Amino acid sequence: MPYDSSLIEGEPAVIYRLCPYSDSSAVASAVSSNHGKIKLFIKNAFGKKGAPVCLIPGSLSFSLKSGGLSHFRSFSHNPDYYHYINNPDIAVRLNLCFDFFDQLFPLGEFSAAFWKLILKFTSENCREISLYAIYRLLKDAGFWFYHSCACGKMEGALTLHREGIICESCAQIRKGFAIDKTAAACLPLFADTDAYRAAKFSPFEEEAVLKLFGAHIDAVLEKKEAVKSLKVFSCMALSL
Ligand SMILES: [Zn+2]
Repeated sequence: MPYDSSLIEGEPAVIYRLCPYSDSSAVASAVSSNHGKIKLFIKNAFGKKGAPVCLIPGSLSFSLKSGGLSHFRSFSHNPDYYHYINNPDIAVRLNLCFDFFDQLFPLGEFSAAFWKLILKFTSENCREISLYAIYRLLKDAGFWFYHSCACGKMEGALTLHREGIICESCAQIRKGFAIDKTAAACLPLFADTDAYRAAKFSPFEEEAVLKLFGAHIDAVLEKKEAVKSLKVFSCMALSL
């Protein structure tokens, strides 16, 4: 019986989720530098060798099955990235980024910019880089929303309604998600690379922007709380 898969060896990748499946197997979600989002079947995932480490970049060998469940062969994580799981500030934000990625990209696809960004997290930049990574995901998936209102203006109180922004004079009936002042002040930075490099966000600004990104993704995907880790993140952020 022909098996339509090809062996890929040692490809840079990150496994971001591992779901136990039957007795000892698991299904993993990963993003790789050449094949984008992949799902992997791992036989004996919790055997002697132990489960592959999530969130840490490394090199992945697998039999690729396009559009389906690929077969896991091996994964060796890169020890230079231990801070990705040892530092909870980084780990929770990476989780959040991968949750957005998982919702926005189908199997086989990804954003090259996102791939580069997830290799650059440090304890100093994790707040700024995670917001930027989510911005790139929204942009590369075709869902970036910060364009001026259909009237060409960006005045008064702004509302996010489904896929775009409505300014105060156009919003006759207030529908959608009110963009608060904190988030509105941060949004223009995303499209301005130089300004963004110099930007530092407060926990308050981070939360406001994340809330907005979460409301936006729910509206475009027509889902409720699509990014599950967002809620956990807000609870954690408040208790810090
Ligand atoms: Zn308008």
